Parts: sequence; C-alpha cells; structure tokens
Amino acid sequence: MVSKKTKIIATLGPSSRDLQTITELLQNGADVFRLNFSHGTHEDHAQSIALVKEAAAALGINPAILADLQGPKIRTGRTPQDQAITITRDSTVYITSQISECTAENIYVDLPDLDRDLKVGDSIILNDGVLSLVVVAIEADLFRVKCRALNTGTYSSRKGVNFPNAHLSVPSITQKDRDDIEFIRTQPVDFVALSFVRRAEDIVELKKILGADLNHLRIIAKIEKPEAAADIDRIIDTCDGIMVARGDLGVETPIANITILQKDLIRHANAKAKTVIVATQMLESMMDRLIPTRAEASDISNAILDGCDAVMLSGETAAGKYPVAAVSMMAKIIDATENSHYFLHAHKTLIIDNSNFSRRAICNAALIASDKLGSVPIVVFTEDGEDVWYLSKLRPAGSLYAFSHSVNIVRQLALSWDTRAVLVDDMNQTELIESIEKHIVDAGFAKVGESIILINGSSKDSWGANSLRVKKVGEA
Ligand code: PGA
Repeated sequence: MVSKKTKIIATLGPSSRDLQTITELLQNGADVFRLNFSHGTHEDHAQSIALVKEAAAALGINPAILADLQGPKIRTGRTPQDQAITITRDSTVYITSQISECTAENIYVDLPDLDRDLKVGDSIILNDGVLSLVVVAIEADLFRVKCRALNTGTYSSRKGVNFPNAHLSVPSITQKDRDDIEFIRTQPVDFVALSFVRRAEDIVELKKILGADLNHLRIIAKIEKPEAAADIDRIIDTCDGIMVARGDLGVETPIANITILQKDLIRHANAKAKTVIVATQMLESMMDRLIPTRAEASDISNAILDGCDAVMLSGETAAGKYPVAAVSMMAKIIDATENSHYFLHAHKTLIIDNSNFSRRAICNAALIASDKLGSVPIVVFTEDGEDVWYLSKLRPAGSLYAFSHSVNIVRQLALSWDTRAVLVDDMNQTELIESIEKHIVDAGFAKVGESIILINGSSKDSWGANSLRVKKVGEA
C-alpha cells in the first residue's frame, strides 16, 4: 500500500465499479470511496459498496464510504433526442418552471418558484458556465422569466443551472435526498456529504433527519455557494468537515476568485480543527489521457500546501478511461509534495483554535511530548475517534496510529490526515497494549525499546480515561 499523509477520495462509477479496478485503486492510494448520488441507482451504489467490502477484505484494510447527496441541484429538462442546443448572444430565452421540452427559446428548469425567487438583473448560468443569461423581465402569470443571452453557448438535457445572486426558496434537502438517506441507512456508509449547503441550519436539518444514525456517520458540508462561503464559520461549527466543491463554486462565484476562496476555506476549517477536502477537476485531463497537465499537477500540490486533509477525484475515477492511473498519479504528486521543505513549512503555520480545551489537553500534551522526544509515534486507543481527528489536525511530526474496537471508527479514520487506523479485538488492558505494540513492531513503525506516546481515549477502561503515557515498546 502507498504511504502518504494526505488522503485520497476516489469517486466510483461505471469506469470503476468492478472488483479488479477497486482493488487496484486501493493498492495505488485510494483511502475513501465516494458514491455520487447525482448519478446512478441505489442498485449501482449497493453494488459499489459490496465490491469495496470484498476488495478491502481481501487486502485486509478498511477504506471508508462517503455518500454524496445531490441536494438542491437545479437542472434543465430534456432537449429533443437529448441533442445539444446552441443559443446565440443577445437572443431572448424564456426560463420556465412549466414542464416542457427544451428548445433554443424556452428552457424548462426544475425550480418551481422561479418567477418569485428571481428578479430583474439576476444572472442564470447553464452547463457549468458555458452559457450565461440575465433576467430582463418576470412573467409570473406564465411561470417564467424572460432572459437575454450574454454569450453564445450550448446546453443539452439535464445540465446544471446556477443562480449565483438569488436566494432560492427550494428546500435544502429534497425528496430525492430523503429517499437516498433511507437507502444509506441500510448500508455500511461512514460519511454523508450534503451538496449546495447555504447555511448552518441545512446541516442541522440533515442531522435531524439522520437521527440515531448520526452515531456512525460523520457529516461533510459541500461548499459551492457564495452564501455558504460567507457563513463558513457557522457551517463549520455544525459539521465534521467541509468539501471545497470547486465545480459549482467556480460557477456560482467568479472563477478568478477560486484560488483565494480555496485558501480561505481551508484556513477556516483548520482553525476549527475540522476536516477539509479539496475537490473537482484535480486531474480532469486524465479522463482520456494518461498524463495530467502541468497545471493539474501543480493544483494538487498547492491544495496540499494550503493545508487540506484530503484531495478528491470525481469523473476521473467514476467515468474516465484511466481511473487507476489517476489515483496513482495523485499519490505520486502527494508524495513529492509531502517530501518537500515547503510542506513542513506550510504545516508549521497551521493555526488551531483550542476551544474545548479539557478534552484536548491530553492531545496537546502528546504533541509536545512527541516533538520533544524526537518525533516519536503517537498511538491512540480510541472509542469514538475524536482525539485522533483532533491530533491529526495538530499535524504531529511523529506518525499517528489509532486502534479501536469499532470497525466504523477505523473506517472513518481512513479520511484522517496521516492516520493509520487498526481494528483490535475487545480484550483486557495488558493484552490490548501488547497487541498494539506487536502491530506497531510488525508493521515496522517502531522497534522494541523505542519510545512511543500512548493515549487512552476510552472512558470505560481501567487503563484510565484520557491518560497519556510515554513508554518504551516491549517494556511493562
Ligand atoms: P459534484 O460536486 O461532483 O456533485 O458536482 C462537486 C463540485 O461541484 O465541485
């Protein structure tokens, strides 16, 4: 398996939904698999999960599954024979909420109250920025708005539609999302991501719907709307992590701002010790080429130097020609970046907010102890993973190992930066320490007689809740 600190999320789809490919994705550096609920059926996703479990069991590892809910994504209707339609600059186009076939003059979009949500001067962007319109009149009695095309461009069936300056009245969690959540409940999923989050309350609502299932799910807010970027601290406080979803973010906000926005979002997440994923078009050209562009290679390195925890592949692994080559290339770029002196510098400048100090005091002490003793490994026995997530955000110089009785916690920690998580059987304290040390020695992480920092995050063990020990491997 590939050794790296920054984790890789690979989206599964028609190009990768088979045992051989999933096995190779794991062998080449994939840590987490994403199921994109904007595409595919529940049967497809169930099949993907079953194949991941089979591949992982054969390799003896525990990758995580991330279910990505579509959220209130607005799309065009169907064009005749799903053909592309060209709209020329300055022509008049009606955007309507009345179900109808899409043409060059009339485009149906699934936004029921568009005549109330939009106002004159608002912009409407279709097909990932290919076509821009501006609203020139509202025709509420006909359930449509009159628009002028700002450029010549094309669109076709089921293309995304963005309304960058409008506050849409669509629910944050759609009926489709609710149906997908019911499916997710029946599956061994570890993370749920919500698309088009607008405010913190959207995440609160998702958590309410998930109810007791939240005990085994971590929540990721996808940041792809300017409203969300503006409210980022409140959103970060409600979730376990954010995704810088640059695809829609680059349509909803001026694309020229995307680099700075990415840096800002990563800094905010790191300041609150929350997970941050950078996503979309990281190796887009590898959809049909074996070598990425120089700009793509540079983009991945820069996302890592900005301080993200994970980088994601979307179409590259779901629908591209070379899913395994894409993961392998991403892992190589990660490795080269993490072995540069720029990387160490970048991570020394992380600012961590030390709120919730009582729970975190042990972790802060472990960081100092590991540093003073010459970057010795930090080994955490954890019930809920929380201490490990936090320690990983402190970016310890020594390696971080997590041991848990819970397979769900072990799987989730696949996304935690520079963390190796291992499942251990339920056993008494002495046996547990012996088993952990044996694993560390066998895996070559430390030798007998070398120091490690041992943290027990368990509340029920006689070892002592939230205890920290500096001990030599093999000594009592
Ligand atoms: P998507 O989200 O892959 O669901 O479109 C990511 C993005 O918009 O960047």
